[in-house]
Amino acid sequence: MASSSSARYVGAVDQGTTSSRFMVFDHGGNEVVKYQLEHTQIMPRPGWVEHDPVEIWERTSSVIQSGLRQAGLSADDLVALGITNQRETAVVWNRKTGRPYYNAIVWQDTRTDRLATALDRDERGQTIRRKAGLPPATYFSGGKIQWILENVDGVREAAENGDAIFGNTDSWLVWNLTGGPRGGVHVTDVTNASRTMLMNLETLDWDDELLEIFSVPRSMLPEIKPSSCSEGYGSTTAEGPLGGEVRLTGILGDQQAAMVGQVCFEAGEAKNTYGTGNFMLLNTGTELVRSEAGLLTTVCYRFDDQPPVYALEGSIAVTGSAVQWLRDQLGIISGASQSESLAASVEDSGGCYFVPAFSGLFAPYWRSDARGAIVGLSRYNTNAHIARATLEAICYQSRDVAEAMSKDSGVAVDVLKVDGGITANKLCMQLQADILGVPVSKPVVAETTALGAAYAAGLAVGFWSGTDELRENWNEGDRWEPTWSQEQREDGYTGWKKAVERTLNWVDV
Ligand code: ADP
Repeated sequence: MASSSSARYVGAVDQGTTSSRFMVFDHGGNEVVKYQLEHTQIMPRPGWVEHDPVEIWERTSSVIQSGLRQAGLSADDLVALGITNQRETAVVWNRKTGRPYYNAIVWQDTRTDRLATALDRDERGQTIRRKAGLPPATYFSGGKIQWILENVDGVREAAENGDAIFGNTDSWLVWNLTGGPRGGVHVTDVTNASRTMLMNLETLDWDDELLEIFSVPRSMLPEIKPSSCSEGYGSTTAEGPLGGEVRLTGILGDQQAAMVGQVCFEAGEAKNTYGTGNFMLLNTGTELVRSEAGLLTTVCYRFDDQPPVYALEGSIAVTGSAVQWLRDQLGIISGASQSESLAASVEDSGGCYFVPAFSGLFAPYWRSDARGAIVGLSRYNTNAHIARATLEAICYQSRDVAEAMSKDSGVAVDVLKVDGGITANKLCMQLQADILGVPVSKPVVAETTALGAAYAAGLAVGFWSGTDELRENWNEGDRWEPTWSQEQREDGYTGWKKAVERTLNWVDV
């Protein structure tokens, strides 16, 4: 059995937007193995972004098998398994055959922009804000499920008779890992459920009024469980990629997992994750703080039957994907890391600003009518200025969110804990300290998302005794101190705000 005393590690699956990873951690929170595979980004029309759920399951299976093989481990070595995932991305599949009815509609997809805008024109928008803590936006799952119900043949009937079921990629993977059509469990955790626009933040249950707004039958939805669950969601099977039984005891949406991995367990603690998009979360404790400044209220985590811990979140749609755009669409860099050397070849952005509002603007603006712009150009400007403006845009967008957080909570972040792929870019992290005016701190174990899922799973089975023990595992790796003058900082930010203005009201929605 996996829970035998010989088990020394915790496994974690991190099903992200661009790739799926399998990692194993030891008791000190150190990485024992990491194996990762990308999956296809399907973009059938402007604004549409899809993933193939079958490919995601296959890639996840492969990374688990390869990771275990590389480390010379088996299911018996794992005391528990945690799952963390790209949030909001919606999969609808048939519970009898295991086949998806449609591709997963990804969080960045804007096909539901008219629907989202319509909701905000009447009292339904206020209901969603009050009950779900979210502004009506294309970002969340509710509209994506509704789109599949209305546009894919046969799904509405299948949902009414209980055959078509919904999940984010956590539920999809747990269902497959626990047996799929041969008895897989259909569950999610509170953090993922809090991103659907269908869950009531106070009751932590699916809400009939919200289900009605999106015409989603309750029978499609997974059971909502705690993020760390000592009774377990289910176990992996001998036929599955682990080749044995391991208890699944932790599920967290990726950004909430990063909060746990960064040990932000006290109210007032915050982190910023720099990946495809950026996500800054502030722990607000057991108090549900409603944002007045354009942030989301979300569940940070719930450990077993303890009271839920909430967070304020500033989600930014496009940060690392703007770097990908420099590489893939403009072709001015050959790899993401080259953005650093190109940007470092000039002293500043030469007066230009890049607002990468490709999917509209998320926090704190929530404007689906915005589209991207590069402004302030003169003939003097080069590729290097554009690259630098891209890195600055990542940091300015984070400043917008940090300002909103201090307005809502009255707490100004004094040190920003960071993680995610872009934190490999030292220039970008220095710019962040300069633009924000506070030190930026990165832990030694920067894979905080997978680590957080492992922590949630390990806490549930007593592998870790509690959050104090986890805190001891956190060690600073790098730190960047602000170097700009106050005047430079404010001038730069004023220019950014002007540039943002230029992107608004660009498309009719
Ligand atoms: P996710 O979990 O969202 O898939 P990651 O944390 O793996 O994202 O980060 C990947 C993103 O980070 C990509 O969008 C990539 O363009 C960007 N990125 C990776 N390395 C760098 C770098 N050195 N400089 C700037 N951006 C980078």
